[in-house]
Amino acid sequence: MSIKIAVTGAAGRMGKTLIEAVSLNASAELGAAIERPGSSFIGADAGELAGIGTNGITVVDDINAVINDFDVLIDFTAPAATVANAQACVEAGKKIVIGTTGCTEQELTTIHRATEQTAICMASNFSTGVNVCFKLLNEAAKILGDDYDVEIVEAHHRHKVDSPSGTALSMGEAVAEGLGRNLKDVAIYGREGQVGARPDKEIGFATVRGGDVVGDHTVMFLADGERVEITHKASSRMSFGRGAVRAAVWLAGQPAGLFSMQDVLGL
Ligand code: NAD
Repeated sequence: MSIKIAVTGAAGRMGKTLIEAVSLNASAELGAAIERPGSSFIGADAGELAGIGTNGITVVDDINAVINDFDVLIDFTAPAATVANAQACVEAGKKIVIGTTGCTEQELTTIHRATEQTAICMASNFSTGVNVCFKLLNEAAKILGDDYDVEIVEAHHRHKVDSPSGTALSMGEAVAEGLGRNLKDVAIYGREGQVGARPDKEIGFATVRGGDVVGDHTVMFLADGERVEITHKASSRMSFGRGAVRAAVWLAGQPAGLFSMQDVLGL
């Protein structure tokens, strides 16, 4: 039996990729496609929008109008839209895969509260490769310890609105956990002017924005005489799309609760 999936933000960069990714997964089928009210894509055929040919699913502007047409919603939109969609899904008992980044603490609290009633899989990055990197970074931090300075550099396309990327923050958390530090206490986001010598336990973030970069991340462990770098480079959004659809199929069989891509992959 295939899992029926709804994609919201259907006309976005990730939305179109997700519609195609659903069509490539034998265990999934598209049940609905949603865009924001006022979008010029309302009424369009979702398959045509994604460039994969007509699929008979019309893009609508109200999740409640299609709430009975899917089992799992995949939401890569914007924080306020994601919170509203999560509430609609909770009321209808639908499960949700959330890829949206840049949520505030308050928005995260609302989403986490929803996991008392439904299953939600949320990840800053749904690529398998990046999730392997999270695991490697945690191990590397445990082995290298406090003798190595940690710096995280990320690059994304010019349209990205949040900084640093959610993936860079998750990488920082994986390292901080391995070092027994709280990321909030040791993170520094950019340096300018007479900032003085680097404090020992700092974890630094630097951001590059421009062009069409899909997503590059490098974590450096720097010591006197050597440097270890763990790098991931995404060359296609399909790496996130395939992972998110895999997560949706997996989530369909889970009880209420909060899950991550690490859970989906059994890491
Ligand atoms: P985008 O701007 O291209 O697409 C977002 C889409 O959401 C737009 O088409 C917009 O009209 C739509 N939208 C906004 N409000 C809506 C609403 N209320 N209902 C329905 N649709 C609505 O952005 P993008 O590059 O596709 O990225 C979207 C999000 O996904 C960002 O937060 C980005 O950081 C995140 N992202 C996450 C991963 C991951 O693996 N977790 C990977 C890539 C991007």
